[in-house]
Amino acid sequence: MLNVAEVEPRGDLKDGVRKPMPPAQFDVLSKEILELKRKQNAVILAHNYQVPEIQDVADYVGDSLGLSQQAATTDADVIVFAGVHFMAETAKILNPNKIVVLPDKDAGCSLEESCPGDRLKALQDTNPNFYTVAYINCSAEVKALSDVICTSGNAKKIVEACPADRDLLFVPDENLGAWVTEQTGRPMQLWRGNCYVHVEWTHAAITRIREQYPDAPVVAHPECTKAVRMLADEVCSTEKMIGYCRNTSAKALIIATEAGMLHRLKKECPDKTFIPAPTDKCACNECKFMKMNTLEKLRDCLANLSPQVELPAEIIERAKKPILRMLEISAR
Ligand code: SF4
Repeated sequence: MLNVAEVEPRGDLKDGVRKPMPPAQFDVLSKEILELKRKQNAVILAHNYQVPEIQDVADYVGDSLGLSQQAATTDADVIVFAGVHFMAETAKILNPNKIVVLPDKDAGCSLEESCPGDRLKALQDTNPNFYTVAYINCSAEVKALSDVICTSGNAKKIVEACPADRDLLFVPDENLGAWVTEQTGRPMQLWRGNCYVHVEWTHAAITRIREQYPDAPVVAHPECTKAVRMLADEVCSTEKMIGYCRNTSAKALIIATEAGMLHRLKKECPDKTFIPAPTDKCACNECKFMKMNTLEKLRDCLANLSPQVELPAEIIERAKKPILRMLEISAR
């Protein structure tokens, strides 16, 4: 996988707004994809941060928790995971006998990069009483070293269910971990990793946009820094953002998460206006990894059943346990 510095921004953003694909091109590609999907008996799972045209052809669009739940129950022969590599790995761990493909195998994640398995193992060896809670944004190797997995949508519930007599180690997102400690009162040792997109928002930039739109609540993802979270009216996962935006009486909302979420929000709440929270540098915030996936690459991976996710059986076996533990606690 590539690291953050190696990925160039795509050139189709203008003033923070992504140019939509021409309708004629979308029609041709989406028809090809639907035909291939039928032929391969495939299901397309897309993360909320994917480009709009991928969201529009997917069978299911959601956050990491929802996508994991879909992956755990699908009866399709092929899973096309339009997201980043660790998400497709999670689908493979839950479905070792199915074919799992993703549009671009180089779509990584700064959080995953920050936490190599050997460094985590070295830290775990310093304290046999550690109980490791891993945010799902990590490699299969790190999942295999963990006691339980969480997503931003269930992290509070997962941590509340952790054994009281163990020392909690939370990896790899220090901001999500700090927010969960604020929510639960449970102290945790935090790995020093972060999402390079969500840490771009600053206290000063959010303060300025709040002054500009005083009636618009700020909704922020917990991967944002504390300086930003403390200015937010609501801090929640992308899936919970939909419920908040739907139920609030506010007509306009300021959204501090990856820009792909705006497409989903506009579809779910067509009567509301969504204002992308600006950073100090620009009016937009896109994950370069998420945006490596295109509709053309999605079509090609379905046609060729490549690139596929492959994992050693031993890693699958060990990584599956903490994921299933998460799904079981989530369902309670
Ligand atoms: S938005 Fe952040 S956490 Fe999500 S895939 Fe991109 S770098 Fe990783």
